[in-house]
Amino acid sequence: MWIRLENEADASVVAAQLQGMGLWTRALEDDQGETTGFAVEPFSAAIDWERLRQVEGVAEVQRPRSAHPRVDAQSGQPVAVGDVVFAVGGQPILVAGPCAIESAEQVDAIAASVAAAGASILRGGAFKPRSSPYSFSGHGAEALGWMRKAADRHGLAVVTEVMSEAEVELVSAHADMLQIGSRNMQNFALLRAVGAMGKPILLKRGMASTVEEWLLAGEHLLAAGAAGVVFCERGISGFDPHTRNLLDLGAVALLTSVHRLPVVVDPSHAVGRRDLIPALAKAAVAAGASGLMIEAHGDPSTALSDGAQALSPDALYELGFKR
Ligand code: PEP
Ligand code: MN
Repeated sequence: MWIRLENEADASVVAAQLQGMGLWTRALEDDQGETTGFAVEPFSAAIDWERLRQVEGVAEVQRPRSAHPRVDAQSGQPVAVGDVVFAVGGQPILVAGPCAIESAEQVDAIAASVAAAGASILRGGAFKPRSSPYSFSGHGAEALGWMRKAADRHGLAVVTEVMSEAEVELVSAHADMLQIGSRNMQNFALLRAVGAMGKPILLKRGMASTVEEWLLAGEHLLAAGAAGVVFCERGISGFDPHTRNLLDLGAVALLTSVHRLPVVVDPSHAVGRRDLIPALAKAAVAAGASGLMIEAHGDPSTALSDGAQALSPDALYELGFKR
């Protein structure tokens, strides 16, 4: 975006004022080397448009055309999943449950535990993306039924991942919120099919995706008809194997405080080890997260997937969430 100066304006005085508002600027000069305006760099602070127009010496402010107008229009708006509301500055929502739905008994027991720990939404995979084709990849359609029943019994909503266009309707019939996994953030055909269900979506950030690509994926969903998009930061690929991924709290603060969009942080997939989850959960809420997604298992040592990053029911309760 750029700012045009009034003819008589003192460019250095205006520049100092813009800097005071947290804007990083680049001077625009005419043929004589006179500063006629400023370009504002994209890494500047959130812009207060009214205040900016009132700065003495500013003649005109040209806002950039956004590539994601529907996402921008969601700014400051809550995203509801039944009576559970994700809102910037609102009460953080706990989404918890196992990595994978392993049996009807397992999901019923963990649903009771996560509800007792203050969760509002039950998570769990029926269709699991796994790096190896030989790993457990979920019980599919049957697991969706187990999960729905458990959630209803314990007063929870359901979020679960949709992996392919072929399963969109089936998953949608069982879930209140549809999850797009990290690996599918840019599967545009899937985004269109999932958006067309008209439900709220939990959109995980691709593990090597920029914030702009993430916002554009949200735009695909909203353009296709999604009721709302909650952005989920689950860590991006780092270089250090001590933690599974690198939790990008800067992106969380950017989306919540600049774009005013609801963000859920998933510390389980971000860090990959349960001992660090409580610290990251606190940091996420401090950075402005509207919710947390945490993997929990009745007996993490026997979990069929991601046991190392699952909290026990007691540890989840210890986080001190209030519903
Ligand atoms: C999940 O939440 O079940 C999952 C597979 O996470 P991600 O897509 O972030 O890897
Ligand atoms: Mn998992």
